[in-house]
Amino acid sequence: MSDVYDLVVIGGGPAGYVAAIRAAQLGMKAAVVEGRGALGGTCLNVGCIPSKAMLQSSHHFEMADKEFSHHGIDVSGLKLNLKTMLARKDKVVESLTGGIEMLMKKNKVTYLKGWGKIEAVGKVSVKPLDGKGKPQVLETANILIATGSEVTPLPGVTIDEKQIVSSTGALSLPKVPKTMAVIGAGVIGLELGSVWRRLGAEVTVIEFLDMALPGMDGEVSKYAQRILTKQGLTFKMKTKVTGAKAGKGGVTLTMEPRDAKDSGGKAETLKVDVVLVAIGRRPFTEGLGLKEVGVEVGERGFIPVDADYQTNVEGIYAIGDVIGGAMLAHKAEDEGVVCAEIMAGQTGHIDYGAIPGIVYTHPEIASVGKTEEQLKEAGIAYNKGKFPFTANSRARCNDDTDGFVKILADATTDKVLGCHIVGPQAGDLIQEVVNVMEFEGSAEDIARICHGHPGLPESVKEAALGVAGRAIHI
Ligand code: FAD
Ligand code: NAD
Repeated sequence: MSDVYDLVVIGGGPAGYVAAIRAAQLGMKAAVVEGRGALGGTCLNVGCIPSKAMLQSSHHFEMADKEFSHHGIDVSGLKLNLKTMLARKDKVVESLTGGIEMLMKKNKVTYLKGWGKIEAVGKVSVKPLDGKGKPQVLETANILIATGSEVTPLPGVTIDEKQIVSSTGALSLPKVPKTMAVIGAGVIGLELGSVWRRLGAEVTVIEFLDMALPGMDGEVSKYAQRILTKQGLTFKMKTKVTGAKAGKGGVTLTMEPRDAKDSGGKAETLKVDVVLVAIGRRPFTEGLGLKEVGVEVGERGFIPVDADYQTNVEGIYAIGDVIGGAMLAHKAEDEGVVCAEIMAGQTGHIDYGAIPGIVYTHPEIASVGKTEEQLKEAGIAYNKGKFPFTANSRARCNDDTDGFVKILADATTDKVLGCHIVGPQAGDLIQEVVNVMEFEGSAEDIARICHGHPGLPESVKEAALGVAGRAIHI
C-alpha cells in the first residue's frame, strides 16, 4: 500500500523544507524526501553555514594577529587550533540541521530519508539510504522538485576532495595548505580563498574574465579586488586553466592567458598544495526520472517553470537552484513559501529585482537592484549618492573604514533602483535599501528617516542624501 499526500517535496534544502513547512501551515499533508541523510541542503550542510562559520573564526584569528594591537590589546603566543575551529563549524551545522528536523516534527511534515524518483504524475518512489529493501511509494496530488545544485566540474581538473577540492573539501581541509590556487574569482573563490589566506595560506585566485565577482557593479567589484589584494590574495585575471596534475609534492596547474592567440602570451605552470575549483554550480536532477515523466529540461540543465513554478507537466513544480536565477538560499526559501501558497490556491509573487546578494569577505560586499552598467545599458537616467565609511563615525570607532555605500536612484522620480556596498556589515546594511525598494520608495525616503547615532546605517542615509547632492558629513 502506498502513502497518500497533498505534497511530496524532493530535496530538503532551503527551497524544499521551507515549502513543506508552509504547505503544512496551510493545511496540506506534506512530505520531504532527502537523500543526504540530513536536512538543510547545500546551504546548511556544505554551503552558507559552514562557510560563514569558518569566515567568522578565521576573521577572529586575523583580528587577533593583525588588528588587536591597534586597540592596545597585545596578544602573545597566538596559535591556531584548526581542529577546534573545524569542530566548532561542524557543531554549528549539526545544531542547525537538527533544528530543521525539529521543525518538520512541529509542523507534522513527514521526513523520508532516501533518494526520490518521480515514477509518474502523482507518484514518487523513495529508495532507502542504505540501498536495502524495496523503495517506498508515495501518492501525492502535487510533486515539488527542489533538488538544488552541484559543483560545476572543470575539464582536465579532477576533483578528489583532498588535493583538488570543491567548496565541500575546502570547508574541511585537515591542515592549512602552504600554497593554494583558487580557480574562479566568484563568491566561493573570494570567501573560501579569504578563509585559508587568513589562516596562513598563500592564495592565488585564477579568473577567466577581467573582473572578480562578474555581474556585480563594476566600481564595487574593482574596489573589492583592490582591498582583497591588499589583504594578501594574489589575482591572476584573464587566465585559463588547462589542466591539473596531482602528485605527492602537490598539484601542478597548467594555464595560459585567455587571449593567448591574440596576445601571444605563453602557457605557464603553478605548483600548489591545494587547488579549489569554484567556477559555479549547475542544477542537480540526476536519477529524478524527469525524461521518463516528460518534464522538460532547459539547455544548461535548469528546469523551466511558469509564473506559478509549475513545470510543463501539470502537478509537477520546481523551485530553488534547480530552476536557475540567483543561486541563493533566501531566493530558494522565498520560492518555497510562494509556491506552497500558490498550490493552496492563494496568490503570490517574488520581486526578483529586490533580492540582495552578499559576499561575506571582510569587508563584506552587498548588492541589490541595478548596477550602474545595467542602467547605462538600458538608457535609464539616474542620480548617484556615494558615502565612504572613512566619514562614518561608527566605522572610525571600530577602526573598520574600508569601503563605501552607493545608492542609484531614478533621475526623474528619485525611486531607488539599486544599492551597492563594500564595507563593514554591508550584508546587514543593504536590508534597509531592500525594504525601501520593495515599497518602491525613493532616496529621499531613506534620507528623511532618522538613523541611530553613531551607527553604520548612517552611511546609507548619507549616501541617500548624496543622491540629491546634500550629504552632510562629507
Ligand atoms: P540545495 O540546498 O542544494 O538542496 C537540495 C537538496 O536536495 C540536497 O540536500 C540534495 O541532497 C537533495 N536531493 C537532490 N536530489 C534528490 C533526490 N532525488 N532525492 C532526495 N533528495 C535529493 N547562498 C546564500 O544565500 N548565502 C550564502 O552565504 C551562501 N553560501 C554558500 C556557500 C557555498 C560554499 C555554497 C556551495 C553555496 C552557498 N550558497 C549561499 C548557495 C545556497 O547554498 C543555495 O543557493 C541553496 O542551498 C539552494 O537551495 P535549494 O534548496 O534549491 O538546493
Ligand atoms: P560564481 O558564479 O559566483 O563564480 C564563478 C567564477 O568562476 C566567475 O567569476 C567565473 O567567471 C569564473 N570562471 C568560470 N569558469 C572559469 C574557468 N574555466 N577558469 C577560471 N575562472 C572561471 O560561482 P561560485 O563562486 O562557484 O558559487 C556558486 C554559487 O553559489 C553562486 O551562484 C553563488 O550565488 C552561490 N554562493 C553564494 C554565496 C553567498 O551568497 N555569499 C556564497 C557562496 C556561493
